[in-house]
Amino acid sequence: VTDEQLLRYARHLMLPDWGMQCQERVLASHALVIGAGGLGNAALLYLASAGVGTITVVDDDVVELSNLQRQIAHTTARVGQPKVTSVQQAVHDINPAVTVHAHATRANADNLSQWVAQSTVVLDCSDNFTTRQAVNAACVAAAKPLVWASALGMHGQLSVYDPSDEKSPCYACVFPPSAAPPEVACATLGVWAPLVGMLGSAQAGEALKLLGGVPSAASGRLLMLDAQHMQWQDLRTQRVHACTVCGMPQASFS
Ligand SMILES: [Zn+2]
Repeated sequence: VTDEQLLRYARHLMLPDWGMQCQERVLASHALVIGAGGLGNAALLYLASAGVGTITVVDDDVVELSNLQRQIAHTTARVGQPKVTSVQQAVHDINPAVTVHAHATRANADNLSQWVAQSTVVLDCSDNFTTRQAVNAACVAAAKPLVWASALGMHGQLSVYDPSDEKSPCYACVFPPSAAPPEVACATLGVWAPLVGMLGSAQAGEALKLLGGVPSAASGRLLMLDAQHMQWQDLRTQRVHACTVCGMPQASFS
C-alpha cells in the first residue's frame, strides 16, 4: 500500500471493522457489474471510490437525456455515448487506479460464464427478469457471491446470494424462473431518482463487505424499500431444495 493509498482510503482504514487487511483485499479484487443504468451508476461510483482494483461492466445501451434524472455517473456531454464508456470515464475521474473493462453488449449465458468466473463478486444492476435469471445461474455455477437489486416506481428490493453460506437461497429460490412476472420498465412506470442511488449504494456496500472478507448482512434476507413512506420491510428467505438452479440434482429413475 502506497502513501497515496493510505491517504485516499484513510477514512475506511480508521473504521474499527475495516482495517488494512480488508482494504488490501478490496484493492486486489474484481467486481463484475451487470448494467450501467441507475443502480449500476451508484454502485460503480462507490466501488471505484472505495478502491476495487478491477471492475468489469456490461451494458448494451447508450446514454439518453431521459437517463440523466437518475443515472448520476453519466453527463449531458456524454449523451449518445455507450453507457459503459461513460461510466469508465466517471470511474477514471474518481479513481484512476481502477482498471475498468467495458463491454457494450448484452449479458447472456455465454459471456456471463466467462466474466463471472473471472470476478470476485457480481452485482446485478440489470432491469429485467431474463438477465437476472442468467446472472444468478452463472453465479451459482461458479459459486460466486451475487448482490442484486431492483428499483421501479417508488419501490426497491435488494438481496445477497452468498455461496459460502450453505443456507443462503439463490435468486431463483425466491423468484423461480418458471414464474416470470409481466415485464414492467422504468420507461413505462417511471422511477424515483434517489431510489436507484439508495439501492445501488447499498449494493456497493454489501459487495465491499464480501470483497473485504466481512460477511454480508443481507444474505438470506429480502430487503424491500417503500420510498414513498420510507419504510423498509425485511423478509427472511429460505433455500429451496427443489430449486431448478441451486437445488439438489433430481434422482433419475430408469
Ligand atoms: Zn436456488
